[in-house]
Amino acid sequence: MAVEELGLNAAFGAALRESLRPDQISVAEGDLKTFAIDQGPVTDYKEPVAVVWAENITEVQAVVRAAAAHNVPLVTRGAGTGVSGGAHATAGSVVLNLTRMNQILEINLADEIARVEPGVINGDLNTAVAAHGLMFAPDPASFKISTIGGNIATNAGGLRCAKYGVTRDAVLSLDVVLADGSLIHTGHRTFKGVAGYDLTSLFVGSEGTLGIVVGATVRLKYLPTIVRTLAVFFPDVQSAAAGVLALGAARVQPCILELLDGPSLKELDFRNGSNLSERGTALLLIQFDGLAAEAEEAIAAAELSKLGGSVSREDPEEAQRLVDLRRNNRGLDVDAENRVGEDVAVPRSQLVHYITALEEMAQRHGVELQVIAHAGDGNLHPTFSVPTFEPAGIKALNAALDESIDKALELGGTITGEHGIGQYKLRWLALEQAEEVLELQRGIKELFDPQGILNPGKAIISRP
Ligand SMILES: Cc1cc2nc3c(=O)[nH]c(=O)nc-3n(C[C@H](O)[C@H](O)[C@H](O)COP(=O)(O)OP(=O)(O)OC[C@H]3O[C@@H](n4cnc5c(N)ncnc54)[C@H](O)[C@@H]3O)c2cc1C
Repeated sequence: MAVEELGLNAAFGAALRESLRPDQISVAEGDLKTFAIDQGPVTDYKEPVAVVWAENITEVQAVVRAAAAHNVPLVTRGAGTGVSGGAHATAGSVVLNLTRMNQILEINLADEIARVEPGVINGDLNTAVAAHGLMFAPDPASFKISTIGGNIATNAGGLRCAKYGVTRDAVLSLDVVLADGSLIHTGHRTFKGVAGYDLTSLFVGSEGTLGIVVGATVRLKYLPTIVRTLAVFFPDVQSAAAGVLALGAARVQPCILELLDGPSLKELDFRNGSNLSERGTALLLIQFDGLAAEAEEAIAAAELSKLGGSVSREDPEEAQRLVDLRRNNRGLDVDAENRVGEDVAVPRSQLVHYITALEEMAQRHGVELQVIAHAGDGNLHPTFSVPTFEPAGIKALNAALDESIDKALELGGTITGEHGIGQYKLRWLALEQAEEVLELQRGIKELFDPQGILNPGKAIISRP
């Protein structure tokens, strides 16, 4: 079908065809549908007018220049695994898909860095560097399918963040195509560097609204050879949350510290045929790595036993099974109006209070609740659900969601620990950030993208 036939501005379509092959441009209904949304709750999206696959930086620049010339909004997209609607298409937009830019350009063993194109899958980079005893530490549970470009644009977290930090901590420099099509390079190949304002950090987590990441230099860490794993089951979720603080007080540093409540264990058992819920009402899944792992494991086991935890030292095979179960806890379900997986963070000292408050509000609103948490970071993913799309249930679900956000803020937390604001969380952003902060953010957006063509309506609240 001719590009012009589906609402694509003819001059813009012609500009695209000058720089891209026909197989890099699609206006097929199937593609427009597939690439209209990510895995976030679908709130407000429109089918794009086209999807384009750029294969190199020059092509990205050409697409952006054409979009700027014809005022066409661009929604940059990696694997589309985002869960905040950051990659939802908007009215009249073109989806710029970067999954074909998937080359690892350099692995430098002496400098302990890698240079990658944005469409490289996180797990593929990890596989490539593991052969050299190295790892790319940020490991969102989606690491087998999400792209490094998407991880950077969302400042993704993951299980290993408890020890190794989030994506921002692993990014040293970026190549970014700006809204006028120009290419800039930020940052440095060195671990340290403080020249000028930190634009690299500004782009990390900016959700495709300030520029398009077309290359990244990332820091690698040593792949640990010694790993020890504990599964500690507790009689209630509050004791498990208290265990997180006990580990901190004992000054041991897990690389993974995940909390799963009773309903989450039951759900995992249901999906996977495991028997976790028979072993306790809440689980702390804890991993130590490095040369001190064994000593740290012993201290942790002693401290958590004192809190009533039933401690099980897991062999590598069972450890991997448990970590995989945790990573796959979402299953294949995409968030829907009647089932929303939240992402908030609270100071760790508030974990116990927050979980207690969540349980109370779920009961009061008559909605189902499951809580899993990257507990080492105080980052919780409560999932609220109701069985049907019946309006009263949806109203109750939304009331519980609103309240869970209010409570997180009241306890000194944030409305998103790692998934980003995207489109879905815009409704709560003004609760966390004061008007002068929102206004500064609008100013930054206008500086980088005066026409407002880069992923409009995402990440920040536009001026009323
Ligand atoms: C099963 C599952 C588990 C998950 N677990 C985690 C987790 O543990 N931790 C976590 O943080 N997240 C998690 N997520 C969310 C998601 O995987 C991450 O946000 C991930 O970083 C998104 O990468 P992506 O390639 O899919 O990006 P997309 O979803 O395609 O895009 C995400 C955002 O980044 C922008 N973007 C993408 N690429 C670029 C680029 N090159 N330049 C500029 N902007 C760009 C998009 O416009 C969009 O705003 C999970 C999701 C699923 C489905």
